[in-house]
Amino acid sequence: MIDASLVRKIRRRLLSWYDNHGRDLPWRRTDDPYAIWISEIMLQQTQVETVQPYYQRFLKRFPDVGTLARARLDTVLKQWEGLGYYGRARNMHKAAKVVVQDYEGQVPTTSEGLMALPGIGRYTAGAIASIAFGRCEPILDGNVIRILSRLFRYDQDPKSPEAQERLWDWATRLVPKGRPGAFNQAMMELGATVCHRQNPSCLLCPVATLCQARHHGEQHLLPKRVKRKARPCHTIAVGIVYKRGRILIDRRKPEGLLGGLWEFPGGKQEPGESLEETVKREVKEELGITVSVKRHLITIHHAYTHFEIELHAFLCQHMRGTPVCHASTAVKWVWPKDLERYAFPGANKKIFQALDLT
Ligand code: SF4
Repeated sequence: MIDASLVRKIRRRLLSWYDNHGRDLPWRRTDDPYAIWISEIMLQQTQVETVQPYYQRFLKRFPDVGTLARARLDTVLKQWEGLGYYGRARNMHKAAKVVVQDYEGQVPTTSEGLMALPGIGRYTAGAIASIAFGRCEPILDGNVIRILSRLFRYDQDPKSPEAQERLWDWATRLVPKGRPGAFNQAMMELGATVCHRQNPSCLLCPVATLCQARHHGEQHLLPKRVKRKARPCHTIAVGIVYKRGRILIDRRKPEGLLGGLWEFPGGKQEPGESLEETVKREVKEELGITVSVKRHLITIHHAYTHFEIELHAFLCQHMRGTPVCHASTAVKWVWPKDLERYAFPGANKKIFQALDLT
């Protein structure tokens, strides 16, 4: 299905198209492996337009791996705030320490070395090794899967182990020794700007005459979509607990989805419980204090990758007890105007607006 002459044509057309049409993005103007690494981590699950300002601010604040390794996790999370998937920031921070301690501050140059670092999987390792170090390593992400499935009219579930093996094999065969980084970026670029998930712009595609899906009019059917389970929705109630003008916040344990971020105390509603009861119980369990629920402030709907939440925030008055961390790593009373100094999950920003901190 994929012979040497086809491989040569695909390479030649994609590279020439990329040379002429590739977007001018900040991480494409550098050969600093550290900067390329940051861009690749930020670009996981996040759009180019969203990443650009974060990338620039992050590099200004942490210009090299040593600065990142020395920084406090809180400071790193604050820079990451709003970008989501905070495990990426925690892992980058851990990985920076490993690079400083075990690699004398030099980013590993091979895929194997890169994959030994926290937060770097096969795709990211291939991207960094090929772009920063010119190594002939393939990449396979959603964009590349879409292009390969359409180019070769491959109709198996791309998440299945057999399909993964097949797709990685094609990606490996396609990447050229001469310009592996440019070729991989050309694939990413084609997926992002031409071979869209819906309505691909086949008329603008450099490999259109080689594309089997287009030939058969099946672009919209590939890659095969398998129905996944619906995301569960959790109901959460949190307390904006105040005492003499200050508000209580606590920091989550370092593990888990939002690990290390600050939040308002609260948690999941239990069966048969009113939201007000949830707030009182959760605040008591989490911090050992008693509060009186005054009024509902705002309800926010927020979707994560694998679940959704309906977050109800209530203004609460502190009644009794000194806050103690039972389920968190730090607790503070802060002035409302200072809340912005702490890294909070995205959903909490809407609570700030409802609090009208201006
Ligand atoms: Fe994608 Fe269309 Fe190009 Fe095929 S021809 S790779 S479907 S943009």
